[in-house]
Amino acid sequence: MKLFRALLLVALLPLGLLDSLRVPLEAQQAAPATEPATGVKLDLAECVRVQKGELPIIISAPHGGNRAIPDVEPRTGEGLEKGPSGFFTGRDVGTEQLALAVAVEVKKKLGREPWFVISRVHRKYIDFNRPAEIGFEDPDARLVYEHYHGSLASACREVAEAHRCGLLIDIHGQGTSRSTVYRGTRNGRTTELLQQRFGGAAQTGEQSLFGLLAGRGWKVHPNPFDGKEQAGFTGGHIVGTYGSHQQTAIDAVQLEFGADYTGKEQRQKTAETLADALAAYAAKYLQSPPQAGQ
Ligand SMILES: [Zn+2]
Repeated sequence: MKLFRALLLVALLPLGLLDSLRVPLEAQQAAPATEPATGVKLDLAECVRVQKGELPIIISAPHGGNRAIPDVEPRTGEGLEKGPSGFFTGRDVGTEQLALAVAVEVKKKLGREPWFVISRVHRKYIDFNRPAEIGFEDPDARLVYEHYHGSLASACREVAEAHRCGLLIDIHGQGTSRSTVYRGTRNGRTTELLQQRFGGAAQTGEQSLFGLLAGRGWKVHPNPFDGKEQAGFTGGHIVGTYGSHQQTAIDAVQLEFGADYTGKEQRQKTAETLADALAAYAAKYLQSPPQAGQ
């Protein structure tokens, strides 16, 4: 029974981890209790890395993992459209490590921790950047899927409560252009609040996130920044769920990295540059707005 598994998990976890698992544990208890017991302990921390942060910056990386999930079979994608925008099991190599490095560099730059939710499991078992209906097939994968999204949702909620604004970056890798980083904001929709508060230049100007990255030597797309985003890289389920077009306080941006940025030799430099741009972005756009009525 899933509830038994959840209780077992609680009993086995060090106390410090319990807080970050608060919401997902609730989600576990809500999972259908009709599934057969597998007898295998599922350690969610082995499947998804979660860090509670202090900054209004949330890092997500759903496709970099390389681990199997005990008792879970690979997805088959039967009846689904195949390809990078549909059913796809290829992992974004190097992005798990890159996302962790970005978190470390952001802490160094800004003196406080960002939030993160980073998958350690292979995309062939779960695609966290798809809706639940098509993100997994094996019922035993549900807890892991819900842990990822429960953790992201609670990060977004806590950041919104504490700061009344925030930035979610969703880190991916792509094979279309080694030298390019593609922006995915559904052509500006997922950063709607940013643009309402600071004007369109916050999305398309030199001081926008991608403007700041281009200014630090990255080859970015779209460029000019007010051009259309590349079809297929316009932003998936994660930015589509948590972005400010959904009346959240969080602006969400998908970054699709070419291999020149995610390779073993390049990751550290990529993380440092991104953290430097995020620090400039935070100074400009992530100061908490006044409370309504003040
Ligand atoms: Zn991806």
